[in-house]
Amino acid sequence: MADRDGKMWMDGQLIDWRDAKIHVLTHTLHYGMGVFEGVRAYRCDDGVTRVFRLKEHTQRLFNSAKIFRMTMPFDAETLQKAQLEVVKTNGLESCYLRPIAWIGSEKLGVSPTGNTVHVAVAAWPWGAYLGAEGIERGIRVKTSSFQRHHVNVSMVRAKASGWYVNSILANQEALTDGYDEALLLDVDGYVSEGSGENVFIVKGDTLYTPDLSSCLDGITRSTIMTLARDLGIEVVSKRITRDEVYCADEAFFTGTAAEVTPIRELDNRTIGAGSRGPLTEKLQTAYFDVVHGRNAKYAEWLTAI
Ligand code: PMP
Repeated sequence: MADRDGKMWMDGQLIDWRDAKIHVLTHTLHYGMGVFEGVRAYRCDDGVTRVFRLKEHTQRLFNSAKIFRMTMPFDAETLQKAQLEVVKTNGLESCYLRPIAWIGSEKLGVSPTGNTVHVAVAAWPWGAYLGAEGIERGIRVKTSSFQRHHVNVSMVRAKASGWYVNSILANQEALTDGYDEALLLDVDGYVSEGSGENVFIVKGDTLYTPDLSSCLDGITRSTIMTLARDLGIEVVSKRITRDEVYCADEAFFTGTAAEVTPIRELDNRTIGAGSRGPLTEKLQTAYFDVVHGRNAKYAEWLTAI
C-alpha cells in the first residue's frame, strides 16, 4: 500500500503518499498504543461524495485518545476538515478513510511520557470488506478459540491498534479453517463481536445484539439500532449465547468496512434459511439508502466533501 500515487494528511500538512513515513523506533510500533478510526465516504445519488458520521467517528478517535491519556495535537474540527480534504484532494468518490494517532520516536521504554503524538489521515477506494457476494449471500463464520478482551485488561471503548492482535489471531484461525470470519466470545462465554464487526441476531420480530461490555461501541451498530427502531422493530441489547445464534432466524455483522453482512452459517450450523434473511435485507437496504443520501431524514449523518 505504500507505493502508490496520492496525498495523505500528516501532522497538519498534505504530503505525497510515498513520503508518509515514520521511524522504526516509533513507540506505537513497539507497544501498540495507537488509536485509529475506519470511516467511509460514499458517492451519493446526486453525484456528491459525503462522509458518513464524520462527527461521531472523530469523537470516538478523541475518546480513544483520552482513555490512553494521549494528548491530541489537533482539535476535532481540524481533523474533520483533514478527512474531507484527503478525500477531495485525491479525487475519490466512494472510499475508506483511516485517521490514526500514534506516539512518536523520541524515546522507547513503556512509559510514553515525553513523546509527541502524531496524526495522519489516509483514504483509498475499498469495496465490500467481506466480499460483494458475502453482502448478498451471507458468510460462513466460526466461533473463535480466542476470547474477546476482559474489561479490566483492555478498554474496548478505545479503538486501539494493539487490540487488533486479538482480532488477527481470531480472523487468521477462522480463515485457515476455511471460514470467512470469526465470532469471538467474551471471557464469560457470551457472544461479543467479530474480529472487526459488531453482531446482531433476529429472533421472531426482535433484533438482539450483545451489550457493550466487551465489544466496540460500533457506529454502524448504533446506526442499525436507530434505523430498526424507526422501522418499528424492537431492538434489545443483552447477553447472547452462541447456541442462541445457532437457533436464530437471521444473523448479521455490522461495521464501517463490513457494512451490513449477513451470516448464513455459524460453526457449520445453518442460520435460518441459510441466506440473507428478510429483516437483514430490509436493514441492509435502509443502511445503503442512508449512506447514499436517499433518506432525507438522516441527512445530518452525511458531510459533503
Ligand atoms: N468491532 C470491531 C472490533 C471493529 O474493529 C469494528 C470496526 N471499526 C467494529 C466493531 C464496527 O465498528 P464501526 O461500526 O464503528 O465501524
